[in-house]
Amino acid sequence: MYYKLPTTLYCEKDCISRHASDISSYGQYAYIITGRHSAKTNGSLSDILNALKAHNINYQIYDRINENPSIENIMEAVSLSDKKCDFVIGIGGGSALDASKAIAMLLANPDKDENCLYDNSKKLPHLPIVTIPTTCGTGSEITPYSILTIHKERTKRSLPHKIYPSLALIDPMYLNSAPDTIIRNTAIDALGHLIESYINTNATLVSRMFCIQGLNGWQNIYRILTDKTRNYESYEKLMMTSAFAGMAISHTGTCLPHGMSYGITYEHNIPHGKAVGTFLGAFVDNADSDMRDTVFSLCGFKDGHSIHKAITEFCGTVTLTSKEVNTAVSGMLSNTKKLKSCPYSVDEKVLREMYQRSVIIQ
Ligand code: NAP
Ligand code: FE
Repeated sequence: MYYKLPTTLYCEKDCISRHASDISSYGQYAYIITGRHSAKTNGSLSDILNALKAHNINYQIYDRINENPSIENIMEAVSLSDKKCDFVIGIGGGSALDASKAIAMLLANPDKDENCLYDNSKKLPHLPIVTIPTTCGTGSEITPYSILTIHKERTKRSLPHKIYPSLALIDPMYLNSAPDTIIRNTAIDALGHLIESYINTNATLVSRMFCIQGLNGWQNIYRILTDKTRNYESYEKLMMTSAFAGMAISHTGTCLPHGMSYGITYEHNIPHGKAVGTFLGAFVDNADSDMRDTVFSLCGFKDGHSIHKAITEFCGTVTLTSKEVNTAVSGMLSNTKKLKSCPYSVDEKVLREMYQRSVIIQ
């Protein structure tokens, strides 16, 4: 049995102003990391600036994190930092939050360059990180993971370092400005985390406790996504489900659907949640009957086909060429980490069938 979750988390209305003094405990100079637009329009950036000003904390802003941030994007943020910062604040979707973790590690190791990002020979320190999520799927506000795009490998990969945020502040109202497509795609990412953490060789009683909590609420989320409900209660359910899913994968990591998603996001610019969701139905159907039936009964789907149908209705379909499927299958066969986390045996035939069931092959 193993349990580690060192991040302090609050989820409530006006979360940032209520916890301004907690933020101020991390130092006198903050490096704020955001995407290009959303933090300015959903109110999160002005809330954090007010909180910092109230406590006389200086700051610098980097607001050019792209979706699926690349190593180059991280290095630009590090090079533009004036190196005085005591802590990092990540505001946004998973892209900005993941970026803030990599940046916090590089800033704490000024003698190191980008090569340290994927070098796990040595445990490296990082500056304290405050995370403020504005999407409802990655759980990155609480997970130790940072997933970056590696252009030379034409895919994305998680850093081997575990970089836990110190403080996660969730204000559900930041979802109010998110279009339905972002809410749907990111909620499906959370569903992926819950399912892939439950059906996982690393699962423990504690990780499954978070999965059960999250999957149990999935029928509410399904209704929210179907009816496009927009109120504080629905935003809170979406955010909390995402956080529970983050707590689960913090213990177990993800499994095949995440591994299969990275290449298609890179090659086709498919949003992360949609790319993951594409493979979820086939993934569950392949599991042994105990795990499969527990997942179905918790989240209210009758089989993998109905999961796939719901997800394609929410997020749309994915089309690949048969050459792309061949490349993807051989890539997955060499992804030993994801194969090891899968509780059933996976060979070329199993993977091919999963692609055939999940995507349109031209
Ligand atoms: P995202 O890439 O962070 O953001 C997608 C888009 O949503 C961006 O254009 C962003 O705009 C916009 N946006 C964010 N919040 C918004 C809001 N409240 N209102 C309107 N627009 C908003 O999407 P994501 O799905 O949250 O994150 C995906 C990334 O997280 C991927 O790189 C994935 O690999 C990673 N991930 C990490 C973990 C983990 O455990 N660390 C788990 C799963 C996935 P701006 O660019 O202007 O901000
Ligand atoms: Fe994910």
